Amino acid sequence: MQKIVFGPHSLPEIEGQLIRPPHPSPLTLHPSLLTFHRKLKKVNLIISIDTECDRYHNWEVRQPLSFQNIEDQKTTLFPLFKKHGIKATYLISPEVLKDDAAMQVFDEVKKEHEFGSHLHVEFIEPEANMDSRWAKGVQAELTPEVEFAKLENLTNLFESRFGYKPISFRAGRFGASAHTIKHLAALGYKVDSSFRPYSRVQFKNNTVVDAWGVYHQPYFPDFSDFKKKSTQREILELPVTLVQPTLQKLPKSIIAGMGMYNHPLRRVIRKLNIDTDEQWLRPQRHGLDHLCKISDWVMDNTPKNQVPVLNMMFHSSELTPGTSPYCATAADVANYLETLDGYFSYLNKNYQLCSIGLGEAYEKYVSK
Ligand SMILES: [Zn+2]
Repeated sequence: MQKIVFGPHSLPEIEGQLIRPPHPSPLTLHPSLLTFHRKLKKVNLIISIDTECDRYHNWEVRQPLSFQNIEDQKTTLFPLFKKHGIKATYLISPEVLKDDAAMQVFDEVKKEHEFGSHLHVEFIEPEANMDSRWAKGVQAELTPEVEFAKLENLTNLFESRFGYKPISFRAGRFGASAHTIKHLAALGYKVDSSFRPYSRVQFKNNTVVDAWGVYHQPYFPDFSDFKKKSTQREILELPVTLVQPTLQKLPKSIIAGMGMYNHPLRRVIRKLNIDTDEQWLRPQRHGLDHLCKISDWVMDNTPKNQVPVLNMMFHSSELTPGTSPYCATAADVANYLETLDGYFSYLNKNYQLCSIGLGEAYEKYVSK
């Protein structure tokens, strides 16, 4: 039997003889070769779930606070994760950490999944308002002192529930401030996942969070500019997976300045009608085929010396009808689960799938 190894350019090689595809593009490889080629590729899959109270279809908070969506994890996601050997990361918001019944749900799976924290500023002291009907505030709107106090209280609350400190974090509404990474380092966190590539959001008081130009794969950010790499090794940044194949051909330094809707280059792109739709790895936004295509694109476009990471995010409430803008009926939930089921099967079939926790990624990337 001939020994098959990978030669230069990652094309399969049989005893030194390069097998060339019939056309120059790797996409024209025979499907069986392509599958073989991909099968050898390792991927680190992170499922990071913002874990929150029940909302309405317009994101209004259900008052009094309720947590049916947490209870439903037992019948929706827990069995699916078990079936595929998936380790999820539940990033838990303060109102959930404060609820005994909700926390009991996670007791049964404490060893199977990772738990981290998620900040919705309304629900943690100082100045918590547990009766709030909306959770629209973001930490970027707070003074650095108040933001730190809320993060510290959230971290202590988490520790009182789990008996250890959280190491992974995501800001509510992707609303991290310029101080968040430094604060997280001071509190002992290892991984942040608060940035959504190609997003620029203006919050209250003209507070802007502009994540255009963040790296797509894990990196150690500069404490004073999260878009830049740095030599610090305290906090790993791991943005959610959202790709933009057309724009990603541009130099990163240019993309980083394109956050404004009226940036001249974006005006030109709109005028030329160039497709720049975002491709966000989220089950409720795309069908199964599209999730697979986004993942394949990431796999094919990550530098060869890195193990690609797919960081899929969604909310715990997306799997309970009527508690988020997404699934309205039981049939919608069934479809959602079917999509995830198909997605995990696809990754398992086509890649060497490693399901890891968000915080776990730190150890894997710290020496790189
Ligand atoms: Zn949230």
